[in-house]
Amino acid sequence: MKRLPMLINGKWVGDQNDEWLAVFNPSSGEKIAEIVNGHEEHVDEAVKAAQLAFDSKEWRSVKPYERGHLLVRLANHLRENKTEWAEMESQDVGKPISQALGDIEAAARYFEFYGGAADKVMGETIPIEDGLLNVTVLEPLGVTAHIIPWNYPIQIMARSVAAAIATGNAVIVKSAEDTPLTAHALSEWFAESGLPKGIFQHLTGLGSTVGAALSGHPGISHVTFTGSVSTGIQVMCTAAKNVVSTTLELGGKSPNIVFSDAPEEKAIEGVVKAIIQNAGQTCSAGSRVLIEESYKEAFLKKLVKRFNELSIGPGHSDPDIGPILNKRQYEQIMEKIEEAKKDGSIIAGGNAVTVEGYENAYYIQPTIIDGLSHDSAIAQQEIFGPILSVFSFSTVEEAIQLANGTDYGLVSGIWTQNIDTAHYVASKMQSGQVFINNYGAAGGIQMPFGGYKKSGIGREKGFVALRNYTQIKNIAIQFSN
Ligand code: NAD
Repeated sequence: MKRLPMLINGKWVGDQNDEWLAVFNPSSGEKIAEIVNGHEEHVDEAVKAAQLAFDSKEWRSVKPYERGHLLVRLANHLRENKTEWAEMESQDVGKPISQALGDIEAAARYFEFYGGAADKVMGETIPIEDGLLNVTVLEPLGVTAHIIPWNYPIQIMARSVAAAIATGNAVIVKSAEDTPLTAHALSEWFAESGLPKGIFQHLTGLGSTVGAALSGHPGISHVTFTGSVSTGIQVMCTAAKNVVSTTLELGGKSPNIVFSDAPEEKAIEGVVKAIIQNAGQTCSAGSRVLIEESYKEAFLKKLVKRFNELSIGPGHSDPDIGPILNKRQYEQIMEKIEEAKKDGSIIAGGNAVTVEGYENAYYIQPTIIDGLSHDSAIAQQEIFGPILSVFSFSTVEEAIQLANGTDYGLVSGIWTQNIDTAHYVASKMQSGQVFINNYGAAGGIQMPFGGYKKSGIGREKGFVALRNYTQIKNIAIQFSN
């Protein structure tokens, strides 16, 4: 059992005078580590150190391509040690080891992508009039806060931290209470990387204290947050008091729309994977499937068969479905399943599972619910478990109405071989990403990702995310001869 200190101003912080919080392996329920229950003074110390580091000559003299080299070096380190990193992530989150390996590769891709972009963040020259040269310069913001959820810790950390460092900011990471291991390991790497102290710092503790203090600190210039809608709103309100921008990624209730001419095998696998990935504890999970009425019975028969074949077990045994994070998450999922039993019918799964040898952990069968009203809470709310709700439609317009009929708008999947239908429906989707005959293409490091409606504000991933961490300065230079 390890005690993991925080990294503040180049020093390891956490000793016997601090309060420590336990961290558990969701696959077994075993205690695997302890983190410091940080407090407001830690936040203040970290922000002041980051401000000094950001303004230092030492950091200003690091050239953009050198920041890029550093990030690429980190990408290489992750790839060279991927087994160790994946085991750590799997232990912490409970996810199947092959999915954890995928997360390490995705994190490496973020560091590599933004490392490569570091010396290509350019302004413009804007024609005004003769004798006036007008240019824009993209400058870093200063100190950026990164509040990380528990479901994809290393991936979500990598995507915003890489973009922020590439553009020259000083970053402070607040990892989730339940899953701090890879954030701590990253802080170890950064501590040895040669970066000026204070450019990368890591804080642990409760969201309500450390998270809130960080998002409300006047020394922070931008907050990037991924998590629940209610916490996202709090973060935004807190940051707004300092007139500070936020990037919010707040989850979804994403639909897969299956037309009767769908490429069947691909569609079945796509719909299954979209909901079972990380046991459904995924913001972009495809948690609703909308099937053309005439095709519903045939498609569902195959889908149910596939669900019943899925394996459940601890992350290290690499099952299709790993454990649920903790008791709190498990209870809220089971409550929703019980509610669904009253309002609809369970056509696959629907029960908790005891895995032999892992009785202190929480496992739930992949579940399909049919017959719900689309207005019901289960059809509308993010459940964050391996639970799929089924609906049907008779016309393209009805499919569009159902797909857009929640407060969320993160991702949509469209399964059809009709090019007109595919393009028309894509054009009508109120979601930040649309996938046609696939779902979640290749991890999508280069593709802008973010939400319409309550799924969030701003975009992460791709070149566009570099703009989250820069501000534009316009310089007009008048000259004469
Ligand atoms: P959360 O939104 O409460 O926590 C996410 C992060 O925010 C954590 O690091 C947490 O410490 C921090 N935080 C909490 N309160 C804060 C505050 N007042 N100010 C600043 N930071 C704060 O999520 P949770 O409690 O871990 O999970 C609850 C639900 O959120 C889940 O059931 C799920 O529906 C949703 N969720 C969504 C995502 C996603 O990827 N969109 C990820 C995790 C959880």
